Amino acid sequence: AFDVLVVGGGPAGSAAAVYAARKGINTGVAVERMGGQVNDTMSIENYISVLETDGPKFAAALEAQVRHYGVDVMTQQRAVELVPAEEPGGLVGVRMENGALLRSRSVILSTGARWRNVNVPGEQEYKNKGVAYCPHCDGPLFKGKRVAVIGGGNSGVEAAIDLAGLVSHVTLIEFSDQLKADAVLVTKLNSLPNVTIHVNAQTTEITGDGSKVNGLRFKERVSGTEQLIELEGVFVQIGLVPNTEWLKGTLELSRFGEIVVDAKGQTSVPGVFAAGDCTGVPYKQIVIAAGEGAKAALSAFDYLIRTPLA
Ligand code: FAD
Repeated sequence: AFDVLVVGGGPAGSAAAVYAARKGINTGVAVERMGGQVNDTMSIENYISVLETDGPKFAAALEAQVRHYGVDVMTQQRAVELVPAEEPGGLVGVRMENGALLRSRSVILSTGARWRNVNVPGEQEYKNKGVAYCPHCDGPLFKGKRVAVIGGGNSGVEAAIDLAGLVSHVTLIEFSDQLKADAVLVTKLNSLPNVTIHVNAQTTEITGDGSKVNGLRFKERVSGTEQLIELEGVFVQIGLVPNTEWLKGTLELSRFGEIVVDAKGQTSVPGVFAAGDCTGVPYKQIVIAAGEGAKAALSAFDYLIRTPLA
């Protein structure tokens, strides 16, 4: 059995594994794809101390550092069930899709999240070529250009306000008949001179010239007429879904499906910690996920030295 078993190998899981292994304890990582979301990132310019890198390079560096400390890395492994310990100090189980049951004195969940797609023609084709999901990450790439934000909830309206300060013009597209964001955000958005809002608007296509985005087509749902807006970027802001479906019923999740953790990364199940985009900790960023992963590993270590093995 492991002392610490990390599930997931993105920035959070990698940081957790490095911190745990450096305590000299038996550490494993069970992961579908090392690096996580970072693999899908073009350029990373906000990881402190690294002026610029790209996703695959960053992911390879995470894996190299984890392996440097002799961590048992099990890739292409999908966790499907968490089995809490039967008694205090007992082993926690993680059942894998292939049927194996991994057992560990403590577990760190770091399965991350995924952006919900709009599923219209052009979205996949132009991902990272004008189609973006993270305004904190990719906003500066569109400085002085025209963008659309799809989604009028809190994250969409926040993104539109944020981007309006950087880009020349923002078009906000909301499917329903009104913006669902908090009133204070909507008031702020309405006060901005370079923002156009379309409600009752269904995005039908993201158009491009073959190499990058050049427009967004939407249907006015009331009249049925189609419009084409010329622009250089589209931010899809219709939800970030935590990869926690497999945990339902075993530990406390928020109404958004995010794992509920305390300030030390402890979940509602003894010996089980969580970190990164799969938790309710706000602002989904690499530097934050990595910091939370380090914290969860230190908490797991603290738990191990205080809890006699059952
Ligand atoms: P993730 O990176 O999502 O990693 C989750 C890990 O868990 C993966 O290894 C996955 O394979 C694994 N996993 C999931 N489910 C299971 C399971 N059931 N069993 C086993 N393993 C599982 N942030 C920035 O700070 N700067 C940027 O420039 C930036 N750009 C981004 C661009 C894009 C396109 C995207 C999508 C995100 C970007 N982000 C950026 C956000 C950043 O990538 C995330 O905040 C960060 O990766 C979260 O780390 P994490 O370890 O919590 O989760």
